[in-house]
Amino acid sequence: MPAAGPAAARGVGAVVVAAGQGHRFGASRPKQFVDLCGMPVLAWSVRTLMNHPDVDRVVVVLSPPRAASPPAWLPEGVLVVPGGVFRADSVRAGVEALAGDVETVLVHDGARPFVSAELVSRVVDGARNGPVVPAIAVEDTVKRVDEGGWIEETVPRDRLRRVQTPQGFPVAVLNRTHALDDAGAWEAQDAAAMTDDALLCERLGIDVSTVEGDPANLKITTARDLALARAMVETGLIAAGN
Ligand code: C5P
Repeated sequence: MPAAGPAAARGVGAVVVAAGQGHRFGASRPKQFVDLCGMPVLAWSVRTLMNHPDVDRVVVVLSPPRAASPPAWLPEGVLVVPGGVFRADSVRAGVEALAGDVETVLVHDGARPFVSAELVSRVVDGARNGPVVPAIAVEDTVKRVDEGGWIEETVPRDRLRRVQTPQGFPVAVLNRTHALDDAGAWEAQDAAAMTDDALLCERLGIDVSTVEGDPANLKITTARDLALARAMVETGLIAAGN
């Protein structure tokens, strides 16, 4: 665990969700456990978060069978909990595992190995004032198409953003969304559509700010993404071992 000190008093916990099956990846094991230049994909971000001076606790959410027998390569001090059917369930399990003295929670996808310490700092700083997500501008021209693939319109891209993780939240905000879940506010189809955590805030009308994301913070979804990630390490774009 990082040394206690002024950072510990600020109470920042990170939840790394890695309980998905990764069907789109098409390998025998979920993408987060595949080797990426000497370390499993998941180990990269867990290590960065563990080593970050602003982060006091790291919870890793794994599928129930893996959580029952966690991989030996997870760093000492990481708390492992079993996740749920949907990503939102896994996030909730991780947040609940963080002790009550955590004021700020970072939620990170275990499928994003190259989160940098600088990005973590930006999100931690932003989250002191409310929910915050890393965002990057869209460079491609964006079209909306109909069901047949015919172009309906060109969407102005100047205000479009691609968002990443880690997303940062005051813990009180997450507790509020979970209380609403208990009250039956979210339907089952909502859970499937909740691909990030800021969405819950948007539904509640809670403002979410953005900080500059990082193009190198790619999400590994397909085998092609993994090949790209390996090339980023091999060409020195990402420092080996981060
Ligand atoms: O499926 P997708 O790539 O969007 O998942 C994003 C992240 O959420 C992955 O790291 C995945 O392991 C995690 N997840 C989870 N529990 C689920 C579904 C996804 O922890 N039930």
